[in-house]
Amino acid sequence: SVLDRINAIDEKIGSYITVLEEEALEQAKEVQERIDKGEAKSPLAGIPMALKDNICTKNVKTTCASKMLGSFIPPYDATVSKKLYNEGAVLLGKLNMDEFAMGASTENSYFKITRNPWDLERVPGGSSGGSAAAVAAGMAGFALGSDTGGSIRQPASFCGIVGMKPTYGAVSRFGLVAFASSMDQIGPLTKDVTDCAMVLNAITGYDPMDSTSADVKYPDYSKALINDVKGIRIGIPKEYIGDNTNLDVKKAVLDAAKTLKELGAQVAECSLPLTEYAIPAYYIISSAEASSNLARYDGIKYGYRAKEYTDLMDLYVRTRSEGFGVEVKRRILLGTYALSSGYYDQYYKKALQVRTLIKNAFNEVFEKYDVLLGPAAPTTAFKIGEKKEKPLEMYLGDIYTVSVNIAGLPALTIPCGFDGNNLPIGLQLIGKPFDESTLLRVGYTFE
Ligand code: GLN
Repeated sequence: SVLDRINAIDEKIGSYITVLEEEALEQAKEVQERIDKGEAKSPLAGIPMALKDNICTKNVKTTCASKMLGSFIPPYDATVSKKLYNEGAVLLGKLNMDEFAMGASTENSYFKITRNPWDLERVPGGSSGGSAAAVAAGMAGFALGSDTGGSIRQPASFCGIVGMKPTYGAVSRFGLVAFASSMDQIGPLTKDVTDCAMVLNAITGYDPMDSTSADVKYPDYSKALINDVKGIRIGIPKEYIGDNTNLDVKKAVLDAAKTLKELGAQVAECSLPLTEYAIPAYYIISSAEASSNLARYDGIKYGYRAKEYTDLMDLYVRTRSEGFGVEVKRRILLGTYALSSGYYDQYYKKALQVRTLIKNAFNEVFEKYDVLLGPAAPTTAFKIGEKKEKPLEMYLGDIYTVSVNIAGLPALTIPCGFDGNNLPIGLQLIGKPFDESTLLRVGYTFE
């Protein structure tokens, strides 16, 4: 039925880059046999899922929505792909995204744009826009996305679903095509908080294949699904509900806070005074890392290669000029500039210092609060084309999500109402490192 749904509506939405019709039915049959034999007991056994197209899948094209990897077929599975197959989840296909996960609207895909299922003239958010739209429109039971600066939480917010960016190190990055390695993290996009806990149970855990994977004890997240928020200390950073935030968004978020207070949580205003420095720090650090990570696309080892060239240098130049889109080139230029000698101290080093201050500021508020509450984004879904030619405006929309990646924290987005145009609004809950459970517990209250 999910495949039928994809065939019926995805032409309009554009969430899939690759659909695996026969393969999915074949895999479903195998899982059914495992279930019948009593071998597959996971709650995810037989559940149809889809993965963002920057998560490697063995023998299945993984394009990163780029011409550069347009025909790349990985010879191996990402750790998360393997884990989900082991649970019996069935892969329906691979989902559209901004090229190399750079963007906030899914308009930067080489292949096509994705539309918001709530209003086809609007963006689904990004960069995991394909993932969010597919789940919102019933074209997948759940999806995985990646979040470097908000790419799970903001599209979840724009599409009215649940999205979680786990603590840095909680989910293996092995097989995730790198954008900014010190901030990239894979996470679930689901219909509700219960599903989020199930998927999190499947994908978290130590992985020796990822040098930044955390070797800690991971809890059973379903234990957090209790209807009780009594005594939980919730802080609302005043910088998150200021003039930058649309009034409908602000109202819905504060209403949610009021509900939590009525249910016994302790809610108070707090402050994250460095919020205004998060965007510049994020764009310098992420672009610097991207410029280094994307140096591997040279037309030699794998990926696109220019058809005509005179010598090796010409091959590099043509391959990269033809293979990357405008936004990716912008990031590579920005990152290379910030890392170049003479500017390194002024930009990159400064951004790392700001990063430390932001981390410290979070540590300080988390002495008084268990969870921080605010919007996931300052607005609801914007119109297709509205910000495409205004990259700075697009970047500023990331104001409430990037600090979380800078500090490596977990954060959960859940739907909390609608604006005047009937577009979904997302509530963001930010937690202490490895305390995903408290976020799920608070989020579950609204289920
Ligand atoms: N919008 C942010 C950016 O363009 C976040 C992207 C992401 O999280 N992958 O960098």
